Amino acid sequence: MRETLPDLRLGRAGQHFDVIVLGVGAMGSATAYQLARRGKRVLGLERFDIPNTRGSSHGESRIIRLPYYEDPSYVVLVTRAYELWRSIESRAGEQLLHVTGSIDAGPVDSWVFTGALRSAVEYDLPHEVLSGTELGQRFPGYRLPRETMALYQPDGGFLRPERCIVGYVEAAISHGAEFHARERVHDWQPTADGVRVITDKDVYTAERLVVTAGAWNREVLPFLSSLAVPERQVVAWLQPRRPELFTPSRFPVFNALVDEGRFYGFPIHGVPGFKFGKYHHREQHGDPAMLDTEPDAVDEDLLGRFAARYFPEGFGPTMALQSCMFTNSPDHHFVVDLHPEYPQVSFASPCSGHGFKFASVLGEIMADLAERGTTRHNISLFSLRRFGIAGRHAATPDGGERTPHALRPGTEPDLLAHGQGEPVRSTAVVYDNAAVHPFW
Ligand SMILES: Cc1cc2nc3c(=O)[nH]c(=O)nc-3n(C[C@H](O)[C@H](O)[C@H](O)COP(=O)(O)OP(=O)(O)OC[C@H]3O[C@@H](n4cnc5c(N)ncnc54)[C@H](O)[C@@H]3O)c2cc1C
Repeated sequence: MRETLPDLRLGRAGQHFDVIVLGVGAMGSATAYQLARRGKRVLGLERFDIPNTRGSSHGESRIIRLPYYEDPSYVVLVTRAYELWRSIESRAGEQLLHVTGSIDAGPVDSWVFTGALRSAVEYDLPHEVLSGTELGQRFPGYRLPRETMALYQPDGGFLRPERCIVGYVEAAISHGAEFHARERVHDWQPTADGVRVITDKDVYTAERLVVTAGAWNREVLPFLSSLAVPERQVVAWLQPRRPELFTPSRFPVFNALVDEGRFYGFPIHGVPGFKFGKYHHREQHGDPAMLDTEPDAVDEDLLGRFAARYFPEGFGPTMALQSCMFTNSPDHHFVVDLHPEYPQVSFASPCSGHGFKFASVLGEIMADLAERGTTRHNISLFSLRRFGIAGRHAATPDGGERTPHALRPGTEPDLLAHGQGEPVRSTAVVYDNAAVHPFW
Protein backbone atom coordinates (compact mmCIF):
# COMPACT_ATOMS: atom_id res chain seq x y z
CA MET A 1 0.00 0.00 0.00
CA ARG A 2 2.83 2.40 0.73
CA GLU A 3 3.96 2.52 -2.92
CA THR A 4 0.49 3.36 -4.14
CA LEU A 5 -0.07 6.12 -1.60
CA PRO A 6 3.26 7.96 -1.32
CA ASP A 7 1.70 11.41 -0.96
CA LEU A 8 -0.39 10.29 1.99
CA ARG A 9 2.57 9.38 4.19
CA LEU A 10 3.54 12.98 4.61
CA GLY A 11 1.55 16.02 5.60
CA ARG A 12 1.23 18.89 3.18
CA ALA A 13 4.35 20.48 4.57
CA GLY A 14 6.12 17.14 4.81
CA GLN A 15 5.68 17.00 8.57
CA HIS A 16 5.76 13.43 9.71
CA PHE A 17 6.07 12.43 13.35
CA ASP A 18 6.29 9.22 15.30
CA VAL A 19 3.48 10.36 17.57
CA ILE A 20 1.04 13.25 17.60
CA VAL A 21 -0.40 14.10 21.02
CA LEU A 22 -3.76 15.82 20.62
CA GLY A 23 -4.32 18.15 23.58
CA VAL A 24 -1.47 19.44 25.75
CA GLY A 25 -2.95 19.62 29.23
CA ALA A 26 -2.11 17.38 32.16
CA MET A 27 -2.17 14.03 30.37
CA GLY A 28 -0.84 15.28 27.03
CA SER A 29 2.18 17.09 28.45
CA ALA A 30 3.25 14.05 30.49
CA THR A 31 2.71 11.73 27.53
CA ALA A 32 4.72 13.94 25.17
CA TYR A 33 7.58 13.98 27.67
CA GLN A 34 7.61 10.21 28.15
CA LEU A 35 7.61 9.59 24.41
CA ALA A 36 10.25 12.23 23.67
CA ARG A 37 12.61 10.85 26.30
CA ARG A 38 12.23 7.44 24.65
CA GLY A 39 13.57 8.99 21.47
CA LYS A 40 10.28 9.39 19.61
CA ARG A 41 9.63 12.34 17.35
CA VAL A 42 6.64 13.97 19.02
CA LEU A 43 4.27 16.77 18.05
CA GLY A 44 1.92 18.16 20.72
CA LEU A 45 -1.05 20.12 19.38
CA GLU A 46 -3.02 22.43 21.68
CA ARG A 47 -6.00 24.55 20.66
CA PHE A 48 -5.51 27.13 23.44
CA ASP A 49 -2.38 28.25 25.31
CA ILE A 50 0.11 26.01 27.11
CA PRO A 51 -0.90 26.02 29.91
CA ASN A 52 -4.44 27.43 29.75
CA THR A 53 -7.47 28.07 31.94
CA ARG A 54 -10.03 26.70 29.47
CA GLY A 55 -9.85 22.97 30.23
CA SER A 56 -9.50 20.98 33.44
CA SER A 57 -5.98 21.67 34.69
CA HIS A 58 -5.93 25.21 36.08
CA GLY A 59 -6.51 26.74 39.50
CA GLU A 60 -3.17 26.51 41.33
CA SER A 61 -3.62 23.17 43.10
CA ARG A 62 -4.73 19.55 42.73
CA ILE A 63 -4.91 17.02 45.54
CA ILE A 64 -2.70 13.97 45.57
CA ARG A 65 -3.60 11.27 48.11
CA LEU A 66 -2.63 7.66 48.62
CA PRO A 67 -5.49 5.91 50.48
CA TYR A 68 -7.78 5.76 47.49
CA TYR A 69 -11.40 5.38 48.61
CA GLU A 70 -12.68 5.11 45.03
CA ASP A 71 -10.90 1.75 44.64
CA PRO A 72 -7.78 0.39 46.34
CA SER A 73 -6.32 -0.64 43.00
CA TYR A 74 -5.48 3.02 42.30
CA VAL A 75 -2.92 2.92 45.12
CA VAL A 76 -0.30 1.14 43.01
CA LEU A 77 -0.68 3.73 40.27
CA VAL A 78 -0.61 6.71 42.58
CA THR A 79 2.51 5.31 44.23
CA ARG A 80 4.23 5.30 40.85
CA ALA A 81 2.74 8.74 40.15
CA TYR A 82 4.51 10.09 43.24
CA GLU A 83 7.86 8.79 41.96
CA LEU A 84 7.32 10.36 38.58
CA TRP A 85 6.20 13.69 40.06
CA ARG A 86 9.35 13.77 42.16
CA SER A 87 11.41 13.02 39.09
CA ILE A 88 9.92 15.80 36.92
CA GLU A 89 10.09 18.13 39.92
CA SER A 90 13.82 17.66 40.23
CA ARG A 91 14.19 18.12 36.48
CA ALA A 92 12.11 21.29 36.58
CA GLY A 93 14.10 22.66 39.52
CA GLU A 94 11.00 23.92 41.35
CA GLN A 95 8.59 22.49 43.88
CA LEU A 96 5.61 20.91 42.14
CA LEU A 97 4.37 18.68 44.98
CA HIS A 98 3.64 20.04 48.46
CA VAL A 99 3.12 17.49 51.21
CA THR A 100 0.49 18.56 53.75
CA GLY A 101 -1.04 15.23 54.73
CA SER A 102 -4.53 14.26 53.55
CA ILE A 103 -7.88 13.81 55.28
CA ASP A 104 -10.61 11.52 53.95
CA ALA A 105 -13.64 12.04 56.16
CA GLY A 106 -17.31 11.15 56.40
CA PRO A 107 -19.81 9.22 58.47
CA VAL A 108 -18.37 6.04 59.96
CA ASP A 109 -20.01 3.83 57.34
CA SER A 110 -19.47 6.17 54.38
CA TRP A 111 -17.61 5.08 51.26
CA VAL A 112 -15.13 7.94 51.66
CA PHE A 113 -14.00 6.94 55.15
CA THR A 114 -14.34 3.16 54.86
CA GLY A 115 -12.83 3.13 51.36
CA ALA A 116 -9.83 5.19 52.45
CA LEU A 117 -9.34 2.98 55.52
CA ARG A 118 -9.54 -0.16 53.40
CA SER A 119 -6.91 1.17 50.99
CA ALA A 120 -4.64 2.23 53.84
CA VAL A 121 -4.88 -1.17 55.52
CA GLU A 122 -4.59 -3.18 52.31
CA TYR A 123 -1.47 -1.30 51.20
CA ASP A 124 -0.01 -0.82 54.67
CA LEU A 125 0.01 2.95 54.37
CA PRO A 126 0.88 4.98 57.45
CA HIS A 127 -2.36 6.48 58.74
CA GLU A 128 -4.32 7.60 61.77
CA VAL A 129 -8.05 7.45 62.39
CA LEU A 130 -9.48 10.55 64.07
CA SER A 131 -12.97 11.47 65.24
CA GLY A 132 -14.42 14.80 64.14
CA THR A 133 -13.52 16.24 67.53
CA GLU A 134 -9.94 14.95 67.40
CA LEU A 135 -9.57 16.27 63.88
CA GLY A 136 -10.56 19.77 65.02
CA GLN A 137 -8.13 19.61 67.94
CA ARG A 138 -5.25 18.49 65.75
CA PHE A 139 -6.03 20.79 62.80
CA PRO A 140 -8.12 23.67 64.17
CA GLY A 141 -9.23 24.96 60.75
CA TYR A 142 -11.55 21.93 60.61
CA ARG A 143 -14.93 21.81 62.35
CA LEU A 144 -16.53 18.66 60.96
CA PRO A 145 -19.34 17.02 62.98
CA ARG A 146 -18.24 15.12 66.10
CA GLU A 147 -19.49 11.82 64.72
CA THR A 148 -17.44 12.21 61.51
CA MET A 149 -14.59 9.75 61.11
CA ALA A 150 -11.43 10.94 59.38
CA LEU A 151 -8.45 9.09 58.01
CA TYR A 152 -5.27 11.15 58.17
CA GLN A 153 -2.46 10.04 55.85
CA PRO A 154 0.80 11.99 56.13
CA ASP A 155 1.98 11.70 52.49
CA GLY A 156 -1.00 13.46 50.90
CA GLY A 157 -0.70 16.96 49.55
CA PHE A 158 -1.17 19.00 46.45
CA LEU A 159 0.39 19.50 43.05
CA ARG A 160 0.69 22.79 41.15
CA PRO A 161 -1.06 21.90 37.91
CA GLU A 162 0.01 24.74 35.64
CA ARG A 163 3.65 24.37 36.70
CA CYS A 164 3.50 20.59 36.26
CA ILE A 165 2.37 21.07 32.66
CA VAL A 166 5.11 23.63 32.03
CA GLY A 167 7.66 21.29 33.62
CA TYR A 168 6.65 18.41 31.37
CA VAL A 169 6.54 20.54 28.22
CA GLU A 170 9.96 22.05 28.89
CA ALA A 171 11.44 18.63 29.58
CA ALA A 172 9.85 17.22 26.42
CA ILE A 173 11.23 20.10 24.34
CA SER A 174 14.69 19.36 25.71
CA HIS A 175 14.28 15.86 24.26
CA GLY A 176 13.31 17.26 20.87
CA ALA A 177 9.49 17.35 21.10
CA GLU A 178 7.66 20.03 19.17
CA PHE A 179 4.55 21.82 20.49
CA HIS A 180 2.11 24.05 18.66
CA ALA A 181 -0.30 26.02 20.85
CA ARG A 182 -3.29 27.85 19.40
CA GLU A 183 -3.59 25.19 16.74
CA ARG A 184 -6.85 23.30 16.85
CA VAL A 185 -7.21 19.80 15.49
CA HIS A 186 -10.27 19.63 13.27
CA ASP A 187 -10.10 16.08 12.07
CA TRP A 188 -8.01 12.93 12.08
CA GLN A 189 -8.05 10.04 9.70
CA PRO A 190 -6.49 6.60 9.88
CA THR A 191 -4.04 5.84 7.06
CA ALA A 192 -2.19 2.73 6.04
CA ASP A 193 0.80 3.73 8.13
CA GLY A 194 -0.80 5.56 10.97
CA VAL A 195 -2.86 8.73 11.02
CA ARG A 196 -3.33 12.01 9.27
CA VAL A 197 -4.18 14.96 11.50
CA ILE A 198 -5.79 18.08 10.10
CA THR A 199 -5.64 21.31 12.05
CA ASP A 200 -6.80 24.84 11.36
CA LYS A 201 -3.22 25.57 10.24
CA ASP A 202 -1.74 22.46 8.68
CA VAL A 203 -1.84 18.75 7.98
CA TYR A 204 0.48 16.26 9.67
CA THR A 205 1.01 12.54 9.56
CA ALA A 206 2.22 10.23 12.27
CA GLU A 207 2.60 6.58 13.13
CA ARG A 208 0.48 7.02 16.24
CA LEU A 209 -2.10 9.41 17.62
CA VAL A 210 -2.62 9.86 21.35
CA VAL A 211 -5.84 11.67 22.21
CA THR A 212 -5.66 13.61 25.48
CA ALA A 213 -8.20 16.28 24.62
CA GLY A 214 -9.80 16.43 28.06
CA ALA A 215 -13.38 17.69 28.01
CA TRP A 216 -13.24 17.64 24.20
CA ASN A 217 -12.37 13.95 24.00
CA ARG A 218 -15.80 12.97 22.78
CA GLU A 219 -15.61 15.47 19.93
CA VAL A 220 -12.46 13.74 18.76
CA LEU A 221 -13.63 10.20 19.49
CA PRO A 222 -17.41 10.02 19.06
CA PHE A 223 -17.67 6.54 20.62
CA LEU A 224 -16.94 8.30 23.93
CA SER A 225 -20.09 10.38 23.61
CA SER A 226 -21.78 8.93 26.72
CA LEU A 227 -18.52 7.82 28.37
CA ALA A 228 -16.79 11.20 28.72
CA VAL A 229 -19.39 13.77 29.70
CA PRO A 230 -18.13 17.24 30.65
CA GLU A 231 -19.51 18.84 33.79
CA ARG A 232 -19.16 22.39 35.07
CA GLN A 233 -17.36 22.86 38.38
CA VAL A 234 -16.71 25.96 40.46
CA VAL A 235 -14.11 26.41 43.18
CA ALA A 236 -13.86 29.21 45.71
CA TRP A 237 -10.98 30.86 47.54
CA LEU A 238 -12.11 32.57 50.74
CA GLN A 239 -9.90 34.75 52.89
CA PRO A 240 -9.81 32.96 56.26
CA ARG A 241 -10.64 34.87 59.42
CA ARG A 242 -7.60 33.13 60.90
CA PRO A 243 -5.21 32.52 57.99
CA GLU A 244 -2.65 30.91 60.30
CA LEU A 245 -4.93 27.86 60.58
CA PHE A 246 -4.96 27.38 56.82
CA THR A 247 -1.27 27.26 55.99
CA PRO A 248 0.17 24.12 54.31
CA SER A 249 1.87 23.09 57.56
CA ARG A 250 -1.37 23.25 59.61
CA PHE A 251 -4.06 22.32 57.15
CA PRO A 252 -4.03 18.96 55.32
CA VAL A 253 -5.88 18.69 52.00
CA PHE A 254 -9.24 17.02 52.40
CA ASN A 255 -12.06 15.01 50.87
CA ALA A 256 -15.13 15.16 53.09
CA LEU A 257 -18.59 13.69 52.76
CA VAL A 258 -21.12 15.82 54.66
CA ASP A 259 -24.90 16.36 54.55
CA GLU A 260 -24.53 18.76 51.60
CA GLY A 261 -22.43 16.37 49.48
CA ARG A 262 -18.78 15.54 48.90
CA PHE A 263 -16.28 18.40 49.07
CA TYR A 264 -12.52 18.80 48.74
CA GLY A 265 -10.18 21.53 49.87
CA PHE A 266 -6.67 22.91 50.20
CA PRO A 267 -4.57 25.16 52.41
CA ILE A 268 -3.72 28.70 51.25
CA HIS A 269 -1.40 28.61 48.29
CA GLY A 270 -1.02 30.84 45.25
CA VAL A 271 -4.18 32.84 45.97
CA PRO A 272 -4.54 34.36 49.48
CA GLY A 273 -7.49 32.16 50.30
CA PHE A 274 -8.59 28.75 51.54
CA LYS A 275 -9.62 26.86 48.39
CA PHE A 276 -12.40 24.30 48.18
CA GLY A 277 -15.07 22.91 45.88
CA LYS A 278 -17.95 20.48 45.76
CA TYR A 279 -17.81 17.34 43.62
CA HIS A 280 -20.47 17.56 40.90
CA HIS A 281 -21.13 21.12 42.04
CA ARG A 282 -24.58 21.85 40.53
CA GLU A 283 -24.71 18.81 38.25
CA GLN A 284 -24.53 20.94 35.09
CA HIS A 285 -23.47 18.77 32.16
CA GLY A 286 -22.87 19.58 28.51
CA ASP A 287 -20.24 20.28 25.90
CA PRO A 288 -17.57 22.80 26.91
CA ALA A 289 -18.96 25.54 24.67
CA MET A 290 -22.36 25.20 26.37
CA LEU A 291 -21.12 25.38 29.97
CA ASP A 292 -21.12 28.79 31.62
CA THR A 293 -17.56 29.64 32.57
CA GLU A 294 -18.47 32.67 34.68
CA PRO A 295 -19.23 31.80 38.33
CA ASP A 296 -22.38 33.44 39.68
CA ALA A 297 -24.08 34.23 43.00
CA VAL A 298 -25.64 30.75 43.24
CA ASP A 299 -22.17 29.17 43.01
CA GLU A 300 -20.80 31.52 45.63
CA ASP A 301 -23.70 30.96 48.00
CA LEU A 302 -23.54 27.16 47.71
CA LEU A 303 -19.83 27.14 48.51
CA GLY A 304 -20.05 29.82 51.20
CA ARG A 305 -22.67 27.85 53.15
CA PHE A 306 -20.37 24.83 53.25
CA ALA A 307 -17.43 26.86 54.57
CA ALA A 308 -19.54 28.66 57.15
CA ARG A 309 -20.73 25.35 58.60
CA TYR A 310 -17.60 23.17 58.48
CA PHE A 311 -14.67 25.61 58.28
CA PRO A 312 -15.96 28.70 60.12
CA GLU A 313 -12.48 30.15 60.64
CA GLY A 314 -11.96 29.91 56.89
CA PHE A 315 -15.23 31.65 56.02
CA GLY A 316 -14.20 35.18 55.14
CA PRO A 317 -14.50 37.43 52.10
CA THR A 318 -14.34 35.82 48.69
CA MET A 319 -10.95 36.18 47.07
CA ALA A 320 -11.64 34.30 43.86
CA LEU A 321 -14.14 32.03 42.14
CA GLN A 322 -13.17 29.96 39.14
CA SER A 323 -14.90 27.46 36.90
CA CYS A 324 -13.36 24.32 35.50
CA MET A 325 -14.58 21.06 33.95
CA PHE A 326 -14.83 17.51 35.17
CA THR A 327 -15.39 14.93 32.44
CA ASN A 328 -17.19 11.93 33.84
CA SER A 329 -17.47 8.31 32.83
CA PRO A 330 -20.62 6.43 33.95
CA ASP A 331 -18.80 4.65 36.82
CA HIS A 332 -16.38 7.53 37.50
CA HIS A 333 -13.36 5.34 36.83
CA PHE A 334 -10.90 6.36 34.14
CA VAL A 335 -11.24 5.28 30.54
CA VAL A 336 -7.82 4.57 29.04
CA ASP A 337 -7.50 2.28 26.08
CA LEU A 338 -6.77 1.79 22.40
CA HIS A 339 -9.31 2.98 19.85
CA PRO A 340 -11.62 -0.01 19.29
CA GLU A 341 -11.09 0.05 15.51
CA TYR A 342 -7.74 1.78 15.00
CA PRO A 343 -5.09 0.63 17.47
CA GLN A 344 -2.66 3.23 16.20
CA VAL A 345 -4.88 5.61 18.16
CA SER A 346 -5.01 5.53 21.96
CA PHE A 347 -6.73 7.83 24.40
CA ALA A 348 -6.88 8.84 28.06
CA SER A 349 -10.01 10.25 29.61
CA PRO A 350 -9.80 13.38 31.73
CA CYS A 351 -10.67 11.11 34.60
CA SER A 352 -13.94 12.10 36.26
CA GLY A 353 -12.55 14.85 38.46
CA HIS A 354 -9.80 12.85 40.15
CA GLY A 355 -7.19 12.41 37.44
CA PHE A 356 -4.58 15.11 37.83
CA LYS A 357 -2.58 13.28 40.46
CA PHE A 358 -2.23 10.39 37.98
CA ALA A 359 -1.11 12.51 35.03
CA SER A 360 2.54 11.60 35.59
CA VAL A 361 1.88 7.86 35.50
CA LEU A 362 -0.75 8.17 32.78
CA GLY A 363 1.97 9.79 30.68
CA GLU A 364 3.99 6.63 31.13
CA ILE A 365 0.98 4.44 30.36
CA MET A 366 0.04 6.41 27.24
CA ALA A 367 3.63 6.28 26.01
CA ASP A 368 3.57 2.49 26.48
CA LEU A 369 0.28 2.19 24.59
CA ALA A 370 1.54 4.32 21.73
CA GLU A 371 4.79 2.42 21.58
CA ARG A 372 3.62 -1.13 22.06
CA GLY A 373 -0.18 -1.23 22.32
CA THR A 374 0.23 -2.58 25.81
CA THR A 375 1.53 -1.31 29.14
CA ARG A 376 3.47 -2.56 32.12
CA HIS A 377 0.77 -1.08 34.40
CA ASN A 378 -2.46 -2.77 35.32
CA ILE A 379 -5.14 -0.65 33.66
CA SER A 380 -7.83 -3.30 33.42
CA LEU A 381 -10.14 -1.13 35.57
CA PHE A 382 -10.03 1.51 32.82
CA SER A 383 -10.85 -0.66 29.82
CA LEU A 384 -13.52 0.23 27.26
CA ARG A 385 -14.59 -3.39 27.47
CA ARG A 386 -16.52 -2.73 30.69
CA PHE A 387 -18.94 -0.60 28.67
CA GLY A 388 -19.51 -3.39 26.18
CA ILE A 389 -17.44 -1.77 23.43
CA ALA A 390 -15.99 -4.50 21.30
CA GLY A 391 -12.67 -4.13 19.57
CA ARG A 392 -9.00 -4.14 20.37
CA HIS A 393 -8.06 -3.31 23.92
CA ALA A 394 -4.89 -2.46 25.68
CA ALA A 395 -3.30 -5.45 27.34
CA THR A 396 -2.44 -5.34 31.03
CA PRO A 397 0.23 -7.25 32.91
CA ASP A 398 -2.30 -9.55 34.50
CA GLY A 399 -3.46 -10.96 31.25
CA GLY A 400 -5.84 -8.65 29.37
CA GLU A 401 -5.81 -9.85 25.81
CA ARG A 402 -4.64 -7.88 22.85
CA THR A 403 -5.71 -8.63 19.34
CA PRO A 404 -2.80 -8.33 16.93
CA HIS A 405 -3.48 -5.06 15.21
CA ALA A 406 -2.25 -5.22 11.71
CA LEU A 407 -4.09 -2.92 9.46
CA ARG A 408 -4.89 -2.60 5.80
CA PRO A 409 -7.05 0.23 4.58
CA GLY A 410 -10.15 -0.35 2.57
CA THR A 411 -10.76 2.99 0.92
CA GLU A 412 -8.49 5.87 1.67
CA PRO A 413 -10.76 8.83 2.39
CA ASP A 414 -10.44 12.15 0.68
CA LEU A 415 -9.05 14.88 2.82
CA LEU A 416 -12.08 16.65 4.18
CA ALA A 417 -12.07 20.39 4.45
CA HIS A 418 -13.67 21.49 7.69
CA GLY A 419 -14.79 24.97 8.63
CA GLN A 420 -13.44 26.70 11.74
CA GLY A 421 -16.39 26.00 13.99
CA GLU A 422 -16.93 22.37 13.15
CA PRO A 423 -16.40 19.67 15.71
CA VAL A 424 -13.57 17.23 15.27
CA ARG A 425 -14.58 13.87 13.95
CA SER A 426 -12.85 10.76 12.84
CA THR A 427 -13.47 9.52 9.34
CA ALA A 428 -14.67 5.97 9.01
CA VAL A 429 -12.36 3.73 7.03
CA VAL A 430 -12.88 0.01 6.55
CA TYR A 431 -9.97 -2.03 7.89
CA ASP A 432 -9.27 -5.69 8.04
CA ASN A 433 -6.68 -7.68 9.89
CA ALA A 434 -4.09 -8.28 7.18
CA ALA A 435 -0.62 -7.45 8.43
CA VAL A 436 1.02 -4.39 6.97
CA HIS A 437 2.13 -2.32 9.92
CA PRO A 438 3.39 -3.79 13.15
CA PHE A 439 4.12 -1.57 16.12
CA TRP A 440 7.67 -0.39 16.69
C1 LIG B 1 -12.27 22.02 39.75
C2 LIG B 1 -11.48 20.76 39.56
C3 LIG B 1 -10.81 20.22 40.63
C4 LIG B 1 -10.10 19.04 40.48
N1 LIG B 1 -9.41 18.56 41.54
C5 LIG B 1 -8.61 17.49 41.39
C6 LIG B 1 -7.77 17.08 42.44
O1 LIG B 1 -7.76 17.71 43.53
N2 LIG B 1 -6.97 16.01 42.24
C7 LIG B 1 -6.96 15.34 41.06
O2 LIG B 1 -6.22 14.35 40.96
N3 LIG B 1 -7.73 15.72 40.02
C8 LIG B 1 -8.55 16.78 40.16
N4 LIG B 1 -9.31 17.20 39.12
C9 LIG B 1 -9.29 16.47 37.86
C10 LIG B 1 -8.09 16.81 37.03
O3 LIG B 1 -7.83 18.18 37.09
C11 LIG B 1 -8.30 16.30 35.62
O4 LIG B 1 -8.46 14.88 35.67
C12 LIG B 1 -7.13 16.63 34.71
O5 LIG B 1 -6.77 17.97 34.82
C13 LIG B 1 -7.51 16.31 33.28
O6 LIG B 1 -6.38 16.55 32.45
P1 LIG B 1 -6.49 16.36 30.87
O7 LIG B 1 -5.12 16.44 30.34
O8 LIG B 1 -7.32 15.19 30.54
O9 LIG B 1 -7.36 17.63 30.40
P2 LIG B 1 -6.83 19.11 30.13
O10 LIG B 1 -5.72 19.45 31.04
O11 LIG B 1 -8.02 19.98 30.08
O12 LIG B 1 -6.16 19.00 28.69
C14 LIG B 1 -6.88 18.78 27.52
C15 LIG B 1 -6.33 19.73 26.50
O13 LIG B 1 -6.76 19.34 25.20
C16 LIG B 1 -6.94 20.53 24.45
N5 LIG B 1 -7.76 20.23 23.28
C17 LIG B 1 -9.04 19.80 23.29
N6 LIG B 1 -9.49 19.64 22.03
C18 LIG B 1 -8.48 19.97 21.21
C19 LIG B 1 -8.34 20.03 19.79
N7 LIG B 1 -9.34 19.70 18.97
N8 LIG B 1 -7.16 20.43 19.27
C20 LIG B 1 -6.12 20.76 20.08
N9 LIG B 1 -6.21 20.75 21.45
C21 LIG B 1 -7.37 20.35 22.00
C22 LIG B 1 -7.59 21.46 25.45
O14 LIG B 1 -7.50 22.80 25.05
C23 LIG B 1 -6.83 21.15 26.72
O15 LIG B 1 -5.74 22.04 26.94
C24 LIG B 1 -10.05 18.38 39.24
C25 LIG B 1 -10.73 18.93 38.14
C26 LIG B 1 -11.43 20.11 38.29
C27 LIG B 1 -12.14 20.70 37.12
